[in-house]
Amino acid sequence: MLITVLGSGTSQGVPVIGCQCPVCRSKDPRDKRTRTSILIRTDKVTVAVDAGPDFRMQMLREGIDHLDGVFITHEHKDHIGGLDDVRPFIFSQGNKPMPLFVDKSALPEIKREFSYAFKEHLYPGAPTYDVHLIDETPFDFGDLHVEPIKMKHYTLTCYAFRIGKFAYVTDLSEVSQHLMSKLQGVEYIIIEALGRVPHYSHINLQQAVEMAQQLHVKKAWFTHCSHHIGKTVDVNAELPDNMCLAYDGLSFEV
Ligand SMILES: [Zn+2]
Ligand SMILES: [Zn+2]
Ligand SMILES: [Zn+2]
Repeated sequence: MLITVLGSGTSQGVPVIGCQCPVCRSKDPRDKRTRTSILIRTDKVTVAVDAGPDFRMQMLREGIDHLDGVFITHEHKDHIGGLDDVRPFIFSQGNKPMPLFVDKSALPEIKREFSYAFKEHLYPGAPTYDVHLIDETPFDFGDLHVEPIKMKHYTLTCYAFRIGKFAYVTDLSEVSQHLMSKLQGVEYIIIEALGRVPHYSHINLQQAVEMAQQLHVKKAWFTHCSHHIGKTVDVNAELPDNMCLAYDGLSFEV
């Protein structure tokens, strides 16, 4: 299984429009963060977890020419804003509706945002989705065995996805015992780390590090970073050896 970090930035991305802070002015490509998403590739399937506003450029950047489905963590715009841009895959893959794996609580927002995709009489060229409602019941997609895990994201429900020894955990306001028990045995993990201070709807770097330590993972990468986290080079120097900030374009095998 090949994991590629499509985007590693929080909802505004990094640099933030108009910001002159050292992180936003950094020349390090790792400090240019598009909105958070990953791609999972196996011999059988290619799946995106979320499709945010930068989805189109992320697909072009990584040279992706095939997509079998999208797993949705939750309905925030930075995670669904690019769902219209799955159209080229729909068109090139025989006009098959794009499979979307989504919780029932997130679906109304997707239907509102992309109402034209759910009309009885579709305007020509409109995207079509094959909606699969998820809960915490594990499901198989291609050769992936996926375990969705419910998390609290302030007032919303958000899902982490565990696939074997790998887990992707973003947009959570608290690290619950439920989550930690479901993540036991994970060896490779991507966890969100918004910034340095407590936040009402996200966990910060310290919480993410503690989570990775308690799970005894082999390797942890941190994502959904804001410009407040600092420059990648400086943050990595502070972190334990088996942890670092993710960056756009990072790929690794699990
Ligand atoms: Zn987000
Ligand atoms: Zn900034
Ligand atoms: Zn969110």
